[in-house]
Amino acid sequence: MSAIKGSCPLLVIQHFGIYPDVLLFSHLRPQTFPHRHRHREEEPAFVATQTPDVLSRLLPDTTTLALDTCYVDDTAAQITLAVRSTQATAPCPLCTTPAQRIHSHYERTLADLPWAAYHVRLQLRVRKWFCRNRHCPRRIFTERLPTVAAPWARRTLRLAQRLVALGVALGGKAGVRLGHAWDVVVSRNTLLRGLRRQPLPVFPTPRVLGVDDFALRKRQIYGTILVDLARRRPVALLPDRTAETVAHWLREHPGVEVIARDRSSAYTDGARQGAPAATQVADRFHLLQNLREALDHVFMTHEKVLDAVNALGCQQLVPLPEGAVAVPVPPPAETPTPAQQRAAQRQAHRQQLHAQVWALHHQGWTAPAIAQQVGLSLRTVQRDLRTATFAGRRRRSDLGESVLNPYKPYLLERWNAGGYGVVAAYARRLRQAQGLPPGHRRARQPLPVVAEPLGQPLTPRRATWLVLTRAEKRTEVEAQQLTQLHAQDPAVAEAIDLAQDFTQLVRQRQPASLDPWLQRASTSPVEAIQRFATGLYGDYAAVKAGVTLPWSTGPVEGHINRLKMLKRHMFGRARLDLLSRRFVRAPGRPQESAQRRQAPSETPAEAIAA
Ligand SMILES: [Zn+2]
Repeated sequence: MSAIKGSCPLLVIQHFGIYPDVLLFSHLRPQTFPHRHRHREEEPAFVATQTPDVLSRLLPDTTTLALDTCYVDDTAAQITLAVRSTQATAPCPLCTTPAQRIHSHYERTLADLPWAAYHVRLQLRVRKWFCRNRHCPRRIFTERLPTVAAPWARRTLRLAQRLVALGVALGGKAGVRLGHAWDVVVSRNTLLRGLRRQPLPVFPTPRVLGVDDFALRKRQIYGTILVDLARRRPVALLPDRTAETVAHWLREHPGVEVIARDRSSAYTDGARQGAPAATQVADRFHLLQNLREALDHVFMTHEKVLDAVNALGCQQLVPLPEGAVAVPVPPPAETPTPAQQRAAQRQAHRQQLHAQVWALHHQGWTAPAIAQQVGLSLRTVQRDLRTATFAGRRRRSDLGESVLNPYKPYLLERWNAGGYGVVAAYARRLRQAQGLPPGHRRARQPLPVVAEPLGQPLTPRRATWLVLTRAEKRTEVEAQQLTQLHAQDPAVAEAIDLAQDFTQLVRQRQPASLDPWLQRASTSPVEAIQRFATGLYGDYAAVKAGVTLPWSTGPVEGHINRLKMLKRHMFGRARLDLLSRRFVRAPGRPQESAQRRQAPSETPAEAIAA
């Protein structure tokens, strides 16, 4: 039964009047698939449902709604379903007494999920009821349909849930774009509002908690991220990285047994205040990071050692593949530029001040008094007083790098082949253009083969890397550089040995070696290493747990990467409320697989005692 109204083709189907020959649904009938007939007997799973049933099964909740009429508007690509509630009674929203007397009817319009290319609108006829309870202040109420839509909502529950999922996965603008592609029209503000309205999911209190900081705005605003390390799932984002905030969260979520954290005092104090019984674990990566800083300082105060190793490298003959050897190219002549000369002067002056600060310190002066006397800021004086050896400025990290580097192999090849004429001729023309006298010609007698020295020249940073990198990852030349570095100076050799022993005991988790190592390091003549050891003593329990227990904040770093992605995805709108909802709600791995991947379930007390 269809009717065409005016110019727009409007199809009206009476729900109870649909028969298999109605044009719209004829394609659903099994008769239209003649090739299927042969298989009907073998395929009992193929059941031809009556078409009216199909239609009503698509409703949000078939138990409380009945379909009356269906209007199809082809021009607007919209299907309007007239539905009514079939509840025999409705509980009062205030006193929950089931009502029996109907007061009136009224219609709500709800947007629902699209059907293919058609938008779907529900014209929902609901009733108003009288409340039977005489003491209830609500006399008349509208029946609620909790499985269909929230009170006053303009969308069905299932559409609203899908929008939330869209918002969680993609945020505002990207969610809108994908929504449009799926015929769900929504604005980005609606998506974000829906997201913001979602309660944060509730998780069981993690047994093993990973704590680290993340930047909301780099160098300015930092927050704290909490991750359940056993389940490898994010738990919460905290608005700052202070001890109080962490302690407050821990007090509200009692039951955390292990807390893996970096070496910052804020998290140490926060964990101690909030969960005094929990075992704190100093993260192994951060321990090695601290060692790296100490070693950097060692090499910055022993730059002469690095220079000696670099000089050795420049003298060493370079073996060629055919068994012959080549002469290494010497380093460029060191004629300091005026800027470098000025920098050297400044550095000498600074070193003088550093010595003066320490002299006054030995006489018993306080830091503020020294600052006033010497004319430095209090902060600089305090930094100077941290180390008795003057470290100087960090060297350029581009040592050994040149714009010529990509072309050097070719130039050397041409030079050694004696066919340097083209390049030399071009250089002569360049000189000629500038009015310079022509350069010297090459001698005719046979010359030794030239090659670039093996290995990059060492900077403090590169030397630290050389020491801390795993032995199997060092090339032959790098291993040789390390041996030379070790042989140059006893203090440097001591620092290298201590650093390598420490990396081994951390990487292979050897808690038994920790105490002997600390003893050796704290009596070492190398100041930076000694200071590092003192720091470890100050955090002894957590360091010991760090080299004993399997937990580390590695998974937290992974979640921080995801958090950064979400933050940038949302441009300027990623404040903590939206960010937490997207971050914490995002689907993780299924729980079983996370448990299977879980590290050995050592209890902290047993493992540390062992
Ligand atoms: Zn009531």
